[in-house]
Amino acid sequence: MHYVSTRAEASAASQSPQQFSDILLGGLAPDGGLYLPSVYPQVSGAELDAWRKLPYADLAFEILKKFATDIPEADLKALAEKTYTAETYRNARAGEKAADITPLRVLEDKGGKKLVLQALSNGPTLAFKDMAMQLLGNLFEYALAKKNAELNIFGATSGDTGSAAEYAMRGKKGIRVFMLSPHKKMSAFQTAQMFSLQDPNIFNIAVEGVFDDCQDMVKAVSNDLDFKRKQKIGTVNSINWARVVAQVVYYFRGYLAATTSNEQKVSFTVPSGNFGNICAGHIARMMGLPIDKLVVATNENDVLDEFFRTGAYRVRKSAETYHTSSPSMDISKASNFERFVYDLVGRDTKRVRELFHKVETQGGFDLSGQPGSDGDEFKLVSAYGFKSGKSTHDERVQTIRAVEKEYGIVIDTHTADGIKVAKENLEEGVTMIVLETALAAKFNETILEALGKDAERPAGFENIESLPQRFVVMPPDVEKMKTYIASNTGL
Ligand SMILES: *Cc1c(COP(=O)(O)O)cnc(C)c1O
Repeated sequence: MHYVSTRAEASAASQSPQQFSDILLGGLAPDGGLYLPSVYPQVSGAELDAWRKLPYADLAFEILKKFATDIPEADLKALAEKTYTAETYRNARAGEKAADITPLRVLEDKGGKKLVLQALSNGPTLAFKDMAMQLLGNLFEYALAKKNAELNIFGATSGDTGSAAEYAMRGKKGIRVFMLSPHKKMSAFQTAQMFSLQDPNIFNIAVEGVFDDCQDMVKAVSNDLDFKRKQKIGTVNSINWARVVAQVVYYFRGYLAATTSNEQKVSFTVPSGNFGNICAGHIARMMGLPIDKLVVATNENDVLDEFFRTGAYRVRKSAETYHTSSPSMDISKASNFERFVYDLVGRDTKRVRELFHKVETQGGFDLSGQPGSDGDEFKLVSAYGFKSGKSTHDERVQTIRAVEKEYGIVIDTHTADGIKVAKENLEEGVTMIVLETALAAKFNETILEALGKDAERPAGFENIESLPQRFVVMPPDVEKMKTYIASNTGL
């Protein structure tokens, strides 16, 4: 299996075939594009039938081995088994089996319309990012040990990604994590989740500023190529290919667990921000998984909903990016969207280069086919199964109330966005699976507002805010940051 960049020059693609392990530790391709397999591996009906009864780790192995062909199968199997355990994904609700890893729960089944929730947030940080990040931690440790190398992960977070990365990398040999967060700007729960880690390879840095200051520091350090090389700096952002592959697995799992034959139709609704989660659904569908619709759900930051309604992709400026009650979806520019656009324009890398150059220079592109637009490929979007919708804060609050009343469970704000949009897209004879992307305990403020009571916390999280915290406070000063990193890596 070879990987190509969405922006490759024809000559470059044929010269340097990249394998899974070559792109595992990196981010963007050198030409600024994103990596994708040169062809999507295909899955047969017989394989699907055989996979229906597999434990999650075995299913993950079957799918991973189609993409990571340069890792010995026995090693890959061991990595999948180490990652997807009932012990790691232990935060299942009462009535859900932790060993299912991503248990399904039927919310409604009437008049031929079926609404199902697939829990992806039972991992250590109570959000779906654990599904991929836990595997990434084990893959990184494995790959680094083989090369006798080390890696220092450097990033900025305002919540879910940073904590998922820290819980995936804690205690891993050859890896350190330096994570910036805006001092006193995260919720008490999120702060406690990160800062209570006592592992010596985890470095929490609270920056006296806002999230943008943290991100500017990451950029400044990343642009210093000498420093980056010497300090072996890497990232784990959402464009990482291995993260996308790990996410492909639960679409298969959801489909297979919701059906008894491959004739049955299933759609997915996905609370979306950077388009990483739903991009994995697109890839599962391209592999031959019989997904009917992929419904993109956004909040007030509706850059993706706008594209899937109109064909115009218009990235937002910071002033136009709202802070909402579903903060992990507050994005102005969807970093994985280029992977879908590449398929949409028939894998024409020249066209991808032109379109994303236009994003950088003019803030977007328009594929609606209207006079003056950049193309008419929007007409092909429905053939890829995509639909979309959005929610407002009030709609999420109402959905949290209605779901508690009608189905007896408490959901978080991101999942509420998904349920709201899924209900608008229910079809007779098609099971709709909503991906639950976080547990309510993470976003308790809105639960209090909606229900007048606190969200239940999974066992072990009861007193997390009172645990001792380990972090340093730093001004937004790039030189101080570099000194801090170097003094802790000893490189
Ligand atoms: C990251 C995240 C999302 C958005 O996922 P993308 O892959 O960025 O589209 C949605 N919900 C929660 C809780 C998240 O942490």
